[in-house]
Amino acid sequence: TRVLGIEGTAWAASAAVYDAATDEVVIESDAYQPESGGIHPREAAEHMHDAIPQVVETALEQARETHDGPEDEPPVDCIAFSRGPGLGPCLRIVGTAARALSQSLDVPLVGVNHMVAHLEIGRHTSGFSSPVCLNASGANAHLLAYRNGRYRVLGETMDTGVGNAIDKFTRHVGWSHPGGPKVEAAAEDGEYIDLPYVVKGMDFSFSGIMSAAKQRYDDGIPVEDVCFSLQENIFGMLTEVSERALSLTGSDQLVLGGGVGQNARLREMLEEMCAQRGASFHAPEPRFLRDNAGMIAVLGAKMYDAGDTLALEESRVDPDFRPDQVPVSWRADESD
Ligand code: ATP
Repeated sequence: TRVLGIEGTAWAASAAVYDAATDEVVIESDAYQPESGGIHPREAAEHMHDAIPQVVETALEQARETHDGPEDEPPVDCIAFSRGPGLGPCLRIVGTAARALSQSLDVPLVGVNHMVAHLEIGRHTSGFSSPVCLNASGANAHLLAYRNGRYRVLGETMDTGVGNAIDKFTRHVGWSHPGGPKVEAAAEDGEYIDLPYVVKGMDFSFSGIMSAAKQRYDDGIPVEDVCFSLQENIFGMLTEVSERALSLTGSDQLVLGGGVGQNARLREMLEEMCAQRGASFHAPEPRFLRDNAGMIAVLGAKMYDAGDTLALEESRVDPDFRPDQVPVSWRADESD
């Protein structure tokens, strides 16, 4: 199966070609970089509008060059696109591009849930059978596990996504977007100061810790110390709930997904926790952690093989598409 995937939920205008026979993924991305502040939805949509045609064209050329079938045959079997969750204006541009391509190449459409794709790429690259997944991305933070045909949300943020929380702090400090890598670098020279740590059952909250962090910075505490402590507490919270999710499900496999998963300290904490309980841990390579069309194409191939395609008239996008709304067609033969 060969798939052309398109991603565009927020900042990454991305297209990819996946060939299941060789397991090769080629990704072409064009990132939106805000001039100031965080992601502005209107600017992000303008970027999507300008960048999608180019990345799709490059991916299509790649698909044509690597296609060894007859000239008149389409170079891919289907078009997979991110249907949501994400910013509505961005998603609509991606949806329109995917529909146009599906019609012009005369191949089916596959509608992919972006959060499930963040999870499935880790399952794919790890080879784990039934892992718990921690999605730590910009706009989201949650733990998912498969049960009875769906990915269930075992725990999640009660307010903002984890990356957005970090980015809000760095905006306050005056650092450019994205803030995550800057906090990671500054934390190397920091020492621990007291900050809130909020876990309630399987859910967690970032708003109290972010206000406290801004306050500490305004009070003159060295920014390195605030960054170090932010990472220790936020990632400690995610690690604690991940451990509880492993314990609840009885799974001994954890995979990490999402852009914040590029953080070495988060990976170290999760790895250590897993090692202590004899579980296996896997984080995909960075190009698959941040938003990218590779993960859309890889899951698109599994859905296509399961016959899970979309009719054109049912292909509208959904900015609030939750991962537990997705019937997991590609694992339908599993017993639990
Ligand atoms: P979603 O997938 O939920 O729609 P998103 O579109 O914002 O989220 P991602 O690419 O998954 O995108 O994640 C981007 C986030 O990752 C940003 O908030 C950024 O600050 C954060 N991030 C990137 N690198 C690091 C890092 N090294 N440490 C911590 N956070 C990071």
